[in-house]
Amino acid sequence: MKRNPFLCILGNHIKNKEKMNDFANEDALVLFSGGQDSTTCLYWAKKHFRDVHTVCFFYGQRHSPEVENAQRIAEMAGVSFQVLDTPIISQLAPNSLTDLSLEMDEEKPANSYPNTFVPGRNMLFLTCAAAIAYAKNIRHLVTGVSQTDYSGYPDCRDTFIRSLNVSLNLAMERQFVIHTPLMWRTKAQVWQLADELGVFDLVRNETLTCYNGIKAEGCGHCPACKLRNKGLEEYLSFKEKNKKFGN
Ligand SMILES: [Zn+2]
Repeated sequence: MKRNPFLCILGNHIKNKEKMNDFANEDALVLFSGGQDSTTCLYWAKKHFRDVHTVCFFYGQRHSPEVENAQRIAEMAGVSFQVLDTPIISQLAPNSLTDLSLEMDEEKPANSYPNTFVPGRNMLFLTCAAAIAYAKNIRHLVTGVSQTDYSGYPDCRDTFIRSLNVSLNLAMERQFVIHTPLMWRTKAQVWQLADELGVFDLVRNETLTCYNGIKAEGCGHCPACKLRNKGLEEYLSFKEKNKKFGN
């Protein structure tokens, strides 16, 4: 009898922690942009899975060096790299990621999302990634979405990811597991994870998070830089305090 995809995914989520070791002989596909979050996820995946593959979405985003930088990091990590062209993103809704005539919101507006928000973007990306994973016979998807994300994009939330996981299983008759290692971490805790994975310097120096396309510490004033640099400061001072107390 076929397993019910809905029940199966509930089970997967409940047992995720205890079961991570069981995945050592399976492959994973990481949604990868070469930024701080997805690079940390890439190395997290390398620790837990046999072979790791990456897919990078190109949609005419403001910071075009992103794709080349992502490819370079994938090469350094020794994982396969695929670019998926998704220009449709710029046609869906006005957003400052792809429309250079829009001035990017530096702060989140009080009652709405910043204009970097593209409705349904993560849903679209995860659906495309699942189709690629299907073709490669991979059932593990890894994405760096986080519910603690400062702007609170709805398709970064845990409830949505669980719901989509069920829908993808039903849509493709597969038992996908979407892993979200950063879901409950603050930016400082994402830095901590990179440190635990032994790639703190690599993430700090090689990744590109800045909306203005500047590697490492970036421009310093776009929302992505502010968030990244604030998290870094918090983590470094936490580490310094721990050192003082001899931990
Ligand atoms: Zn920046």
